[in-house]
Amino acid sequence: MREVSILVVGGGPAGASAAATLAEAGLPVLLIEQRDQLGGAIHRQSAGGTESHVWRPARHRRNWTALTARLQAATDRVEIRTQTIFLGVDGEGRFLFDDRRSGRVFARQPRAAIIAAGAIETIRPFPGWELPGVMTVGGAQVLLKETGRPPAGPILVAGSGPLLPALSAQLAKAGNPPVAVLERGQPWRMPKAMARLALSGGPIGEAAAYAATLAAHRVPYRCGGVVTRAEPDRDGLKVGIRIGTSEQTLRVRHLLIHDGIEPNRTGIPLPAPDATVPILLAGDGREALGADAALLDGRLAALRLLGRAIAGTAPEEHGLQRARDFQTALARALHSEPIQPAPETVICRCEGRSYADLQDLADDASAREIRLMGRFGLGACQGRFCGPMIAALRGRPLSATSPPRWPLRPVSVAALARLSIDETE
Ligand SMILES: Cc1cc2nc3c(=O)[nH]c(=O)nc-3n(C[C@H](O)[C@H](O)[C@H](O)COP(=O)(O)OP(=O)(O)OC[C@H]3O[C@@H](n4cnc5c(N)ncnc54)[C@H](O)[C@@H]3O)c2cc1C
Repeated sequence: MREVSILVVGGGPAGASAAATLAEAGLPVLLIEQRDQLGGAIHRQSAGGTESHVWRPARHRRNWTALTARLQAATDRVEIRTQTIFLGVDGEGRFLFDDRRSGRVFARQPRAAIIAAGAIETIRPFPGWELPGVMTVGGAQVLLKETGRPPAGPILVAGSGPLLPALSAQLAKAGNPPVAVLERGQPWRMPKAMARLALSGGPIGEAAAYAATLAAHRVPYRCGGVVTRAEPDRDGLKVGIRIGTSEQTLRVRHLLIHDGIEPNRTGIPLPAPDATVPILLAGDGREALGADAALLDGRLAALRLLGRAIAGTAPEEHGLQRARDFQTALARALHSEPIQPAPETVICRCEGRSYADLQDLADDASAREIRLMGRFGLGACQGRFCGPMIAALRGRPLSATSPPRWPLRPVSVAALARLSIDETE
């Protein structure tokens, strides 16, 4: 099996920053990305390989241009493999990858690994969230970035967090502003958190630019509003909403939902003191702090491997703490109490399991029982999407007692059968 020095999983800002820093220090790096291009969640490129024209703040564009230039300058030390999925670590400590171009699985034995697999979106479920026409805000943003076209017809954006106004402003600039943005939180009721937010040094200018775009396109931004249910309606959706005590129904073609992001940890091997290969997490996959922090965190993980950063003193730590303060203040400002879903609400879309099915399980059911008896988290997403919902509803993680298992993603038997451990390519 071919040896690689350092493995970096994830070609977003954190993984690219880690790979560039390691290569600049002279180490050979294997950078693995499942998509066909680097960029991650924020710098997703258009499907044709050209730079996406979807509007992004200039600061982010500059950061990405600088980072890709550093990677290009180090091509002799960074092997970039796109369309390649990190599947996990097998029982013998080999890191396994599914190369979707060649249709075969290959293995590598790195000296160390940095896993920067980003974040996943969370939603708060309601009856009908699983219907065609309902999509996550991040999913819609990926489509917009890849195709350059917004979804056609009336769009409602609902949930909570900064991605709501960000995508809504991008949709407006792309020619289809949403009919409304419903933010679940009520920040004006949290004056202390708002004051902390203003003083946190976070990207307030970016938020103001989104607000100005929404105002220019007359998009109503309603706080304290929630979606109560969605039902099919001719070629669209009938969406029940509640703002304060007032209930109404909107007819839209698309409902885009989002309630924050969480580190993508499902099946990811975590750092362990007794591991034969040191593993570090970086970026949103370690702590969801946003794009600027992801750049710093990737660099910090690389410096830690190089032995050049002492915890608590690296300048990157200050940037991370600022991002953490901002995210904490934002979470407080937008805080809202969870609402119990109706019994028929689908929780696990892969296996069609409802909130009533979840309640049928004993209160003290273990993560394993929730999986095996409840059949939650057993489908194609392996709990990546329903896991956070179940954790929020039951107050503990779905995977708490399950060790990371591979494959992280479905892989064809043919590709596995072609597993090459002696490849010399
Ligand atoms: C859907 C979504 C949209 C967002 N949009 C914005 C935005 O518009 N503006 C903003 O400021 N912030 C946005 N964010 C926040 C964003 O997460 C950070 O700003 C930043 O992109 C985090 O960088 P990262 O490198 O840690 O993770 P990411 O940018 O998410 O990169 C992780 C990379 O790892 C790859 N990966 C994951 N698993 C595997 C695997 N098993 N094998 C191989 N590759 C894998 C992914 O394909 C991805 O390219 C968004 C987050 C999400 C989840």
